Amino acid sequence: MASIAFIICQYGNVILNYTTLNLQSCKQAHPMTLVQPMYLDQINSLKKELHAIILAHNYQIPEVQDIADFIGDSLALSREAAKTDADIIVFCGVHFMAETASILCPEKTVLIPDLDAGCSLASTINSYELQKWKKEHPHAVVVSYVNTSAEVKALSDYCCTSSNAVKVVNSIPKDTEILFLPDMFLGSYVGQVTGRKNLYVWPGECHVHAGITTDDINNMFRKYNHAEFMVHPECGCTSSMLYGMACGDITKKAHILSTEGMMQHAKNSDSSQFVVATETGILYRMKKENPDKMFIPVNENAVCKYMKKITLEKVVDSLVHKQYEVKVPKHLADSARTAIERMLKIS
Ligand code: SF4
Repeated sequence: MASIAFIICQYGNVILNYTTLNLQSCKQAHPMTLVQPMYLDQINSLKKELHAIILAHNYQIPEVQDIADFIGDSLALSREAAKTDADIIVFCGVHFMAETASILCPEKTVLIPDLDAGCSLASTINSYELQKWKKEHPHAVVVSYVNTSAEVKALSDYCCTSSNAVKVVNSIPKDTEILFLPDMFLGSYVGQVTGRKNLYVWPGECHVHAGITTDDINNMFRKYNHAEFMVHPECGCTSSMLYGMACGDITKKAHILSTEGMMQHAKNSDSSQFVVATETGILYRMKKENPDKMFIPVNENAVCKYMKKITLEKVVDSLVHKQYEVKVPKHLADSARTAIERMLKIS
């Protein structure tokens, strides 16, 4: 049965008299999202009352991105967490990101709206496995991608994100062994770009990015040969992309970029069509910030079920009940902070 719905378009206008029956076609015709005014009002007044801020990752659902005070990748969100003067941070992302905020702001309350928002990549290594690996390479420096648990960060020398992994590795003396974890595609990309032979890579992967294959890219090259290609270095196709770029097989319009790098590139490039190889949630922000350009997912099944756990309803519950607090124990936070702060400096 049809019923009246409110739609708030990307410019914040409330549009009345759309029906739920034609809502889908409306959403396809216009880059708009459904943020129910009820939630908006409630979230805004709770934020004021509690002196809270909402941080959202680029892969969050559109409704959550729309109510966030700040949207970005892991690095940008860490920076924002470190500098906010809010008392409460509601972290709309996954658990390791909320832990990073707690490590950087131990005096603040960090909330995650759903405790099941985990990360398959972060789960590929734990502190016991890292301790064992370190024993095999006693002189190595440990560089951990930020997608790791607090325990793993506490055993690491540096953290990095996909935005600054190359810079972090280049900052370490060339003759020092490096243990890079946990993403093997990012690790192999960093190894190829820096030319380091003494960089050992943990065999972990993110199931979403690993699922973006060379076949996906090649199919899209055939279909959209005038578009620019933006590929995240966690993707399963990264090595073959680099190889293709080095051999000149792949058009010069291919770029390997972090999610924030993609946002910048989409804004600054003169191209009007982009094929995007990363989690599809970022396409909403891309379209919203660049309404005259076209963005196409290289694989529309690249969806992270953990990122999609957070809903507006859970954000409201999180603020009302101050749930679920993520607090990293002091001894771990103190050890992990050094590695994170080194990452924040090198970028
Ligand atoms: S997209 Fe991959 S790396 Fe990112 S949170 Fe999901 S599982 Fe983890």
